[in-house]
Amino acid sequence: MTTRTEDLAARLMRYCAIDTQSDADSPSQPSTAIQLTLARLLVQELESIGASDVTLTDYGTVLATIPATAEGPTIGFLAHMDTAPQFNATGVKPRLIKGYNGGAITYPDNPTLTLTPDASPNLLKKLGHDIVTASGTTLLGADDKAGIAIILHTAATLLKDPTIPHGPIRLAFTPDEEIGRGVDKRLPEDLKVDWAYTFDGGEAGEIEYETFSADGAEIRIEGVSIHPGWAKGKMVNAIHLAAKIIAALPQQTMLPELTDGRDGFIHATEMTGGSSAMTLRFILRDFEREGLEEKGRILRAVCDAVQATEPRATITCTITPQYRNMRYWLEKDMRPVELATQACRDIGLDPVSVPIRGGTDGSRLTEMGVPCPNLFTGMQEIHGPLEWVSVQDMERASDLMLALLRRAAAQP
Ligand SMILES: [Zn+2]
Repeated sequence: MTTRTEDLAARLMRYCAIDTQSDADSPSQPSTAIQLTLARLLVQELESIGASDVTLTDYGTVLATIPATAEGPTIGFLAHMDTAPQFNATGVKPRLIKGYNGGAITYPDNPTLTLTPDASPNLLKKLGHDIVTASGTTLLGADDKAGIAIILHTAATLLKDPTIPHGPIRLAFTPDEEIGRGVDKRLPEDLKVDWAYTFDGGEAGEIEYETFSADGAEIRIEGVSIHPGWAKGKMVNAIHLAAKIIAALPQQTMLPELTDGRDGFIHATEMTGGSSAMTLRFILRDFEREGLEEKGRILRAVCDAVQATEPRATITCTITPQYRNMRYWLEKDMRPVELATQACRDIGLDPVSVPIRGGTDGSRLTEMGVPCPNLFTGMQEIHGPLEWVSVQDMERASDLMLALLRRAAAQP
């Protein structure tokens, strides 16, 4: 390994060993106090490499500045500190496999688990690379600690070598991205950049500027409650109405398990209650506004139809906007995307832009006026025990950041 890959691997493994899982059910900000352990470490590390304006905000985001060495736009770089709530993240033991040989990877803490190129085809592109995985019982958390390691490593490089020309750089490490609460309303003002990038993408070469547009929906059903022994002609059971609604929704299309590519979905996430009242929750996703509106219309039409069969019940459907496809804003000014695409070619990689079937911190930030495409980190098989990342891909992501800054500073 080189000094660069050693530094990147050491940073990644140091950050991954700290549990920073977020929790959607917690009302606090950040949602879990453990995220502040990493935040405080990042503050120390930013100070020790000589970054300026290092701050931990009261909304749990770490901010810092790398002062300019040349004229140029102010560019932000973001990565999120939390890991996904979907899988065990306590006791992560990252380990480094040097010079991957193309075979199956086994796990010290879980003999039944193997990572093979069959299950994860990108592995075959990483022959000879140094691979970081967890130990078999937890996720790794390369999502998004690979992004943090890439940004901090590159910041240290820039501060050590003032001959590299770049404009002012702002860094932000956010909590709670995985639960959709990463971007506080104060962040755009505190960041003060012309535009920004998240390092939160996957395979080397990915430059993403499209995310889902997303709404949440809640259906509330009030039935008529009465003792079942005297219920004849009086009771209206909310559970039965809930079942009718679910049965009337599309079952062969528009489900997450039946869609991919550019197709959206209606996903039932939760159903709670009893015979007197029920609450049903959904998430609606589509890449286009029209498609998202259509899914809302379907949900409302089904509620109206079931309501019409039982006027004594009350059925309400509330749809709440969550985030919007960042393309709507970026296509008005594609410079941030074009700069990243050109920088990617500068480092000898073919840029690939695939629409993200989800959102990023950049979706909200873009909507709030800070254009923010997403760049690759190398992370793979995220949110589960097979998560892995190539240290050489992280090095290329650091090269991308340097190439991008060089290009931005060279532009008039
Ligand atoms: Zn992520």
